[in-house]
Amino acid sequence: MSQTLQAVRGMNDILPDDAEIWEHFEDIVRDWLRSYGYRPIRMPIVEPTPLFKRAIGEVTDIVEKEMYSFEDALNGEHLTLRPEGTASCVRAAIQHNLVAAGGPQRLYYQGPMFRHERPQKGRYRQFHQIGVEALGFAGPDIDAEHIIMCARLWDDLGLEDVRLELNSLGSAEERALHRAALIAYLEQHQARLDEDGKRRLYTNPLRILDTKNPDLQDVVEAAPKLADYLGDESQAHFNAVQTLLKDAGIPFRINHRLVRGLDYYNRTVFEWVTTRLGAQGTVCAGGRYDGLVSQLGGKPQPAAGFAMGVERLLALWRESGGEAERPVPDVYVVHMGDTARRLAFRAAEALRGHGFMAVLHCGGGSFKSQMKKADGSGAAVAVVIGEDEALAGEVGVKPLRGPGLQQRVAVDLVSETVAQLVFNENGEEGADNGSV
Ligand code: ATP
Ligand code: MG
Repeated sequence: MSQTLQAVRGMNDILPDDAEIWEHFEDIVRDWLRSYGYRPIRMPIVEPTPLFKRAIGEVTDIVEKEMYSFEDALNGEHLTLRPEGTASCVRAAIQHNLVAAGGPQRLYYQGPMFRHERPQKGRYRQFHQIGVEALGFAGPDIDAEHIIMCARLWDDLGLEDVRLELNSLGSAEERALHRAALIAYLEQHQARLDEDGKRRLYTNPLRILDTKNPDLQDVVEAAPKLADYLGDESQAHFNAVQTLLKDAGIPFRINHRLVRGLDYYNRTVFEWVTTRLGAQGTVCAGGRYDGLVSQLGGKPQPAAGFAMGVERLLALWRESGGEAERPVPDVYVVHMGDTARRLAFRAAEALRGHGFMAVLHCGGGSFKSQMKKADGSGAAVAVVIGEDEALAGEVGVKPLRGPGLQQRVAVDLVSETVAQLVFNENGEEGADNGSV
């Protein structure tokens, strides 16, 4: 006996009730991105494994233990399902010479990402991100723009309780100075470090500051702060970002331990967090990554970006009353008999050709049960075709919401007749609230 197949653990089906909310959300997001001048880019979901190792860093959670990597059985290539979008986006920009040919780029993408994590609320193995990358911009203005645009989206979505945490990771040289001090400090507390901490002490000590282990909080709290190692330029950049945020009226908290889980960041880093989603409270994270383009073999270009976790944002949005904009058909076409069915197809296509949303009844059944479906669909109008009408080349047009009787018209007049019922004199939709 064969067992019913299930989706892979941590990878979710998004069923129509939810998918409609997703689409509404995506519509809002697209409008928002366009309003800031960002343009779409779409990259493959599978990339060469070395891309992520080089971009994200060998000693990171993602590369060490979260990537879905495999060997192409046909040619032995090492491939990975993308765990994030920045590396792919930068790879694409370099490969196609986007910045050199077209100047600085404001880009966005959305789609599934894959990480082999323990599935739980707000943490999945296939999850979705909306990512924004600005390539070729060096100044603090783009850092501020990214944060300010996030705040506007929270506002557009009506989200509350999303707070901003901010830090500066300085330059590579400044981090190197801090790193030496940090290692010296952590060596003194080596006995207390957990397994991850001991392993990262010399490879990625900055990441130890990001630990969630409660036993280590006092150790990392007292560790040397990167802020004390920032040079004048990094400090001025960070100050300028803060000034622009203050001008925009966006409150923030400087979190000295905000280091991000990916190695490519420098200078400004930020996270938007909420307490409303339990442990998985970071809904958006990003920052500047000036070194990445050259690290991936491109001509050096400054860059900054961020990514939002769609599942987490949607959970928050639903809590704040976000819902689907469920499309309601204008017309539902019911029919009975072979000739009527052929006319029904013609009428439905004519209606769609006029821009109406028309659902054609499929699957047969009595007129009564078809009319029930028509009513349940929420349609403003039913087009009714019996054998009688069909033989005369006519259709019945029946208002379902407003007053008015069923009228019989030639099939060629169906769209005009429906239009009279659906739109009132002002050209506004009216039939569904009875104001025909
Ligand atoms: P976390 O600390 O929660 O693991 P992260 O630092 O690994 O997050 P990023 O790589 O910065 O996350 O990804 C940006 C955003 O994508 C996160 O803030 C979060 O909203 C979302 N995200 C990351 N991993 C997952 C996941 N496994 N499931 C759902 N959303 C995720
Ligand atoms: Mg993670």
